[in-house]
Amino acid sequence: MRTPVAIVGGGPAASAAALSLARRGIASTIIERGDDRGEKPGESLPPSARPLLESLGISPDDHLPSTGNRSSWGSDAVDDMPFLFSPYGNGWHLDRRRFERALIARAVAAGTTRRTNTRVTSVTRDNRNWRLQLDDGSAIDCAFLIDATGRASWLARLLGARRVVHDRLIATVAFLDGGHCDATTLIEAAEDGWWYSAPLPDSRLAVMLVSDTPRPFTPSPLTRSRIDSGGYALTAQPRRVDAGSARLDRACGDGWLAIGDAAMSFDPISSHGLLTALSTGLATGETSLPDYQSFVDTTWRAYARMRQACYAGEGRWGEAPFWRGRRAVASHSTG
Ligand SMILES: Cc1cc2nc3c(=O)[nH]c(=O)nc-3n(C[C@H](O)[C@H](O)[C@H](O)COP(=O)(O)OP(=O)(O)OC[C@H]3O[C@@H](n4cnc5c(N)ncnc54)[C@H](O)[C@@H]3O)c2cc1C
Repeated sequence: MRTPVAIVGGGPAASAAALSLARRGIASTIIERGDDRGEKPGESLPPSARPLLESLGISPDDHLPSTGNRSSWGSDAVDDMPFLFSPYGNGWHLDRRRFERALIARAVAAGTTRRTNTRVTSVTRDNRNWRLQLDDGSAIDCAFLIDATGRASWLARLLGARRVVHDRLIATVAFLDGGHCDATTLIEAAEDGWWYSAPLPDSRLAVMLVSDTPRPFTPSPLTRSRIDSGGYALTAQPRRVDAGSARLDRACGDGWLAIGDAAMSFDPISSHGLLTALSTGLATGETSLPDYQSFVDTTWRAYARMRQACYAGEGRWGEAPFWRGRRAVASHSTG
């Protein structure tokens, strides 16, 4: 099979890239090793996502509105940051899989081919033609390759790029069932990390601890009270996933580029992972390779400054290893 562009990995960045290319009349094929099932963390979208989603033809208004953020960060008081005055209105708590399916459906309707449960077993290049050998014995030939494999950066690393890790963090994530709470995202700093919780469609609650070493899933007081007073039940074991900050030493090369988490992955405190996945995906049909690299560099610097300001705002556990570690990272990754 021949396709102008092959996109390896089939998350939100891949769908945005496929749509962006389709708008330029360039067909693409997405090769995803999994399918649309199973839990995936990453469900909060800020109001500022609205213009980007509209440009992709997606409305998340059938998900749960998010009315704002609440945080206990820097002091025991709880700060309310309602989205009431945002020019974009509310944010969203997504059913992540449904959101991804809507994006994929847009891409497929625009002419994208999609293969699921498919692995690439080898990548070779001959006379500017890439050949991807697939695990079902077939092959795909293309002129350009896109790495959308998320934090694995599988393809870019295969092509010689290096993933530079700036901060190692672990998220312990659980999806609780059968309760009800207010429509805000709650962030609660603790001595050994920070807690996040957000209601999801279908009466669920996403709860996450972000720490630098594996910790027991014993929520801090505000988070605990939200779970208990909401009547939520933990029905599946929490799962540990990588939540650190990392980026490729180069996001593109001759005949390829990396988008989304494959190019740069953020600490979830930023709440900008999905936005960045979509915006880097959209950029593929709109920029040259040098401009794309500058776009990635600028985005990373803005993220690193925001992350630094965020962790500098918590001083209650100055000498605790978690907070000392975050400040140490902040001081050398913003340049
Ligand atoms: C714990 C946690 C919480 C988060 N919370 C938020 C949040 O609240 N809001 C937010 O905006 N962002 C959040 N994020 C970030 C957000 O989820 C990511 O930025 C986003 O998923 C990136 O999209 P992507 O398409 O680049 O990668 P992914 O969504 O990771 O998709 C990559 C796809 O590639 C596939 N793949 C991987 N390797 C291969 C291979 N070799 N061959 C074929 N396919 C492959 C995978 O199966 C996957 O489907 C969070 C991240 C974490 C870790």
